[in-house]
Amino acid sequence: MASVTMRNIRKVYDNTVEVIKGVDLEVQDGEFMVFVGPSGCGKSTMMRMIAGLEDITDGELLIGDRVANDLPPVDRGVAMVFQSYALYPHMTVAENMGFGLKLAGSSKAEIAEIVGKAAEILHITNLLDRRPKALSGGQRQRVAIGRAIVRKPGVFLFDEPLSNLDANLRVQMRVELTKLHKELGSTMIYVTHDQTEAMTMGDRIAVFNRGIVEQVGPPMELYHNPVNTFVAEFLGSPKMNLLPIKWTRNGDEACIEVGGCTIPWNGNGHGPLGSVSDDLLLGVRPEHFDVFDSGDTNGSIAAKVEVAERLGDIVLLYLKVPGIEQTLAVKVPEEGHLWQRGATVTLRPRDKTAMLFTKAGPRVS
Ligand code: ADP
Repeated sequence: MASVTMRNIRKVYDNTVEVIKGVDLEVQDGEFMVFVGPSGCGKSTMMRMIAGLEDITDGELLIGDRVANDLPPVDRGVAMVFQSYALYPHMTVAENMGFGLKLAGSSKAEIAEIVGKAAEILHITNLLDRRPKALSGGQRQRVAIGRAIVRKPGVFLFDEPLSNLDANLRVQMRVELTKLHKELGSTMIYVTHDQTEAMTMGDRIAVFNRGIVEQVGPPMELYHNPVNTFVAEFLGSPKMNLLPIKWTRNGDEACIEVGGCTIPWNGNGHGPLGSVSDDLLLGVRPEHFDVFDSGDTNGSIAAKVEVAERLGDIVLLYLKVPGIEQTLAVKVPEEGHLWQRGATVTLRPRDKTAMLFTKAGPRVS
């Protein structure tokens, strides 16, 4: 096992394209760290630099306490599992898993023992004599993971390993990888663009955006305390609603104007901010609204139902608020309510959970 430390790492392609712009990050020994971000933000490049498949332009990479910048991939003690399984078609599962050990000169008995143990962990003992073409996608991915396990790496690197699987299998493999991490206790770094995988699997998440890390922390901390609109919108589905507001007062009471309605604001941020900046966005997650049938709109936002998606346990309402461009997403419990298209409802953000951001992105309360 090993920690991985990135110190001001940069990657510039062809002397011009800077795709990693100074990343500082420490993955602790035994930690499950997820690199998450939209496609093209640099997370695979960062992982390939850790694996030694890509040169590091600037900065320092430590694996354990060794500087690894110039170490060849085989000497880094890392094993990588890709989206494509890259199994040898003419070899059995056992041969595929043991191939690296064979090259390294291990004896047949040793290989059989190590492969047998890895197969047990992955529940593929019954598949050891099959060839890859006789396996399902999920089984192939397990073999690819097995091939990494037998090398007993200090660090596992997973690059979008579940992207080729169907939705059910992805959920199943997600759970199995989490169990595998608990069982092996190894350091794992996992790259994905899927926020659900990040939220459910990571001990901590590093949110990447355009070559920088916006925020690092445990999933729920990032969910409840995002530092800016990028992190706030990236984690959570549907994404956080961001509504333009104006400050106002009702006597001594601080209020916000949103969607043509004036709402008392008991949350943070109304003190001095009220007088200096109107240029703010109110961030409310879809599950953090109280929704009422139309009626008294005093102190609430009036909205029209555009679409109601019934998901079984909850209903996702997509709502239009006069004067606000974007559609609001709101989650309400499924209680047999009709939520007719075109009906008017009133909404009230729960002020203890709502957040304020500047339009430029940073959180102010
Ligand atoms: P992600 O894994 O987040 O989808 P990547 O790390 O694969 O993103 O890519 C980050 C950026 O680097 C992308 O804009 C991509 O086009 C660019 N890039 C990747 N490889 C090269 C290369 N060999 N030369 C130039 N640009 C590259």
